[in-house]
Amino acid sequence: MELITLQGQQAVGKVWLVGAGPGDVELLTVKAYRVLQQADVVLFDALVSDDIMALVPSDAERIAVGKRAGKHSAAQEEINQLLVTKAYTRKNVVRLKGGDPFIFGRGGEELDSLVEAGVQFEVVPGITAASGTAAYAGIPLTHRDYSQGVTFITGHCKLESRPMDWQSHAKANHTLVIYMGILNAELIKQGLIQAGRSADTPVAIVSKATTQSQRQFIGKLSELDKLAADPQLKMPALMIIGEVVELADSLNWFKPDADSSQVNDLAALSLNL
Ligand code: SAH
Repeated sequence: MELITLQGQQAVGKVWLVGAGPGDVELLTVKAYRVLQQADVVLFDALVSDDIMALVPSDAERIAVGKRAGKHSAAQEEINQLLVTKAYTRKNVVRLKGGDPFIFGRGGEELDSLVEAGVQFEVVPGITAASGTAAYAGIPLTHRDYSQGVTFITGHCKLESRPMDWQSHAKANHTLVIYMGILNAELIKQGLIQAGRSADTPVAIVSKATTQSQRQFIGKLSELDKLAADPQLKMPALMIIGEVVELADSLNWFKPDADSSQVNDLAALSLNL
């Protein structure tokens, strides 16, 4: 698509490509917080929580640009164009994305359009879903006794038309984190087992990680599709596959329900004071 730029004019603004983290508002970086508070306009994805949007100044323009299923590329082009257009009229344009903008976030594509249109930008990294999920589910992604490395992959790519290289992802003592994989759970299970990963490898699917609605579904690789079909599982959800998942039993410190009742207790306490 040809970008529309305003002939003979300079963009007045700058675009801040900002990672919002995985959900818990306190996982926002201090820099992201500052940039959000100075925003004139915020273009945000469906994954960005309401708690984070509440930090945006009330007079800033908010534009929801959540991707519509089946219309990914058209929506992406519209977003690219909108970022350029806004930079001509607004000073601080914030493009706010879930997690980290450079991990399965199309951040690079959006920046390409800005470069092409001569718009200035900065990038503020965020805590990616893999890190947030690992921390809040008590699953270290590497551990000297269980895993010597970790790989982040997308399970959303056209698995049938462009087959995944399962051989390179099926190594023992290596952690695999799969974003956007829930709908392909059966293909992922088959691919890994056929490539030699043990059917008994521990797996975790964690939904709405780092939020008060976090849920985790733990089992073996042979059960991955059954775990993914659990009616309690809500999106977004992430898969962690590997020996490190065993550690969740003892390191699982985050108790969402307990935490919210604690907040309520504190609120009750302060009312009594
Ligand atoms: N840029 C984002 C990823 C976008 S892709 C990042 O760095 O985290 C969207 C996928 O991220 C979802 O399908 C899901 O697999 C994962 N995801 C994002 N937030 C999540 C959360 N709070 N809990 C579990 N998975 C999450």
